Amino acid sequence: MKIKICLAIFAALLMAASARAQSKLNVITTTEDLAAIAREVGGDHVTVDSIAKGYQDPHFVEAKPSFILKLQKADILILVGRDLEIGWLPPLIQQSRNSKVQVGADGYLDASLQVRILEIPQGQITRAEGDVHPLGNPHYWLDPENGKIIAREIFDKLAKFRPNDRAYFEQRLNDFVNRVSEAEKRWVDMMAPYKGVKVVTYHRSFPNFAERFGLNIVGYVEPKPGIPPTPQHTLDLINQMKKENVKLVLVEPYFDLKTPNAIGRDTGAEVMVMLPSVGGTKEVTDYFKLFDYDLNLLINAIKKVGAK
Ligand SMILES: [Zn+2]
Repeated sequence: MKIKICLAIFAALLMAASARAQSKLNVITTTEDLAAIAREVGGDHVTVDSIAKGYQDPHFVEAKPSFILKLQKADILILVGRDLEIGWLPPLIQQSRNSKVQVGADGYLDASLQVRILEIPQGQITRAEGDVHPLGNPHYWLDPENGKIIAREIFDKLAKFRPNDRAYFEQRLNDFVNRVSEAEKRWVDMMAPYKGVKVVTYHRSFPNFAERFGLNIVGYVEPKPGIPPTPQHTLDLINQMKKENVKLVLVEPYFDLKTPNAIGRDTGAEVMVMLPSVGGTKEVTDYFKLFDYDLNLLINAIKKVGAK
């Protein structure tokens, strides 16, 4: 009799546990930045996994069968949008055959719709010459103000899927927004003495970051977003850097350092690996650590080269 009761209790506990596990929303994001923000809002009522890693170029992710498996089980898919993932995400979505996350379905969230987008092309939109930013600059998460907007969009989506958890998500959203606002004040203050510092970046990953923290980006190692450096463009860039006395070259972790190092040798500029994403290196595990890491790196480099 005792054993029977024990078994019944055990079975009930198991059922409760599995019901709770099932009730967690399964969120898949394309990038680790979106995953970090989704975790902030979703807390322990969601499971969050990212397809791309933060040390990979988000424009060019090699599609793997395991990504399709992730999407098959997703309740919600969050993407950066603005064609950032156009080269690899559409076939994965299609092959997942998961109706919840198809383009336009309830579980499909394009995080770019409310944020501030820079570098929107004027006139006719074209992918001529392989420009991978045809719909404006997709690296918008590098402004904490946009981070808050992304969080609000994720909140709306989570609350729609789990109306009973709305208050829980709302409290977490508000807490995240407050912490970002506080940190942003600190970050802007840190950078205030260096306002207008001239830099060159490899890819156009940092316009939102530059706008928020007062960097003056005067050129790019790539002739166009997604196009590898050419000898002529590199030469022109070196001349421009010498003329304008630019002493910093910011390189994303997934680019070859050969050309940046050559530019550094010729101009005396410091070449530094700046992270565009959470997960770009092991210790950058959340959205706050991303800015802390980059800004500390940047300020140390500015002090080293005496740039202004
Ligand atoms: Zn890009």
